[in-house]
Amino acid sequence: MAGFWIYGEWAEDDFHPVVYELLGVARTLAPRLGQRVVVVTLGPEDRKTGVEKVLSYGAEEVLFLVHPELDYFRDDLFGRLLGDMVRERRPEVFLFGATSEGQALAPRIAGELGLGLTAHCTAFEVDEEGRLVQIRPSFGENIMAKIVSRTRPQMATVRPGVFPKAEPGEPRGRVEEIKLAALPPSALVRRAVRPLPRVENPLTRARVVVAGGRGLQSKENFAQLFELAELLSGAVGATRPVCHLGWISEEHMIGVSGVSVAPKLYLGFGISGALQHTVGIQGAETVVAINIDPEAPLMKQADIAVVGDARRILPALIRRIREIKEGKNGSGS
Ligand SMILES: Cc1cc2nc3c(=O)[nH]c(=O)nc-3n(C[C@H](O)[C@H](O)[C@H](O)COP(=O)(O)OP(=O)(O)OC[C@H]3O[C@@H](n4cnc5c(N)ncnc54)[C@H](O)[C@@H]3O)c2cc1C
Repeated sequence: MAGFWIYGEWAEDDFHPVVYELLGVARTLAPRLGQRVVVVTLGPEDRKTGVEKVLSYGAEEVLFLVHPELDYFRDDLFGRLLGDMVRERRPEVFLFGATSEGQALAPRIAGELGLGLTAHCTAFEVDEEGRLVQIRPSFGENIMAKIVSRTRPQMATVRPGVFPKAEPGEPRGRVEEIKLAALPPSALVRRAVRPLPRVENPLTRARVVVAGGRGLQSKENFAQLFELAELLSGAVGATRPVCHLGWISEEHMIGVSGVSVAPKLYLGFGISGALQHTVGIQGAETVVAINIDPEAPLMKQADIAVVGDARRILPALIRRIREIKEGKNGSGS
């Protein structure tokens, strides 16, 4: 049967946002691989209407494994059931969001079936032999490695926020419900599960990100980013060293070890632009870099590069924006 499969992680009353991001990837790549886009998901029957939603986002088929006991995620059980589906239907590609659920499942399935698995891809290509080229930072995150699988399905995980979401359109395709008669006895041990409220990191959805690096030179200078972020209704991001220096907590870290952001505007103050950081801003529409060194990698990659001392430019920018907001911009507007 084959297919370009995406694991349909369910989060309360909808698919996890990363599923819609993977659908964007699949829509571009699946036709070039000659495959249909299939979302594979598990749950109780009353989830059917919700599950149909992905048919408007590029899924040509949904394989929906149905059983009342599949209400909550269990890595052992879900891994076993999905492994059986892979054996039976033989997909060409199987992608997972690198969420805690996806990261628990994908290696389980790969391990059980003896398959290759590329973690945390940041880009994909299709080569001239029709194989999926899985691209990710590697070797101390210093190079972009291009990886092709010898085994099928070609399996990979992708962190949330790396790719844009698929746009909705006319629904097509259908849901194939697969009603499971019996589950393994271990699954029948009923466990009470109370999901924690999901707290989304505001950085990942911010339209403006003001980020700072070691070039700001002190925690006090860095703290001014919060003022700027407030004025621009944005969020504060950081490089790994400044998180480790204790200038800000780690959930603000952008890059391979942190989160990926996709704002309309990214401002980087005193950031060199190491690959480990810039893979996390590849979705940014406009990048502005402020650095004393015009040769810094981020300055070369930026849409606007400002050569200067970030410690002076940051407070000057805050002052100027305040003046404009208070109507003191000289033009009276
Ligand atoms: C396995 C691994 C994973 C990693 N993961 C991440 C990650 O997820 N995210 C991440 O960010 N990093 C990560 N790193 C670290 C990464 O390699 C870089 O070291 C880091 O991004 C550099 O941070 P920085 O730009 O703040 O500091 P630096 O590289 O020290 O750059 C400081 C910059 O500030 C400029 N500067 C100095 N003074 C001023 C001034 N007064 N005004 C303006 N500019 C000034 C300098 O010219 C320089 O370009 C990782 C590294 C490894 C090995």
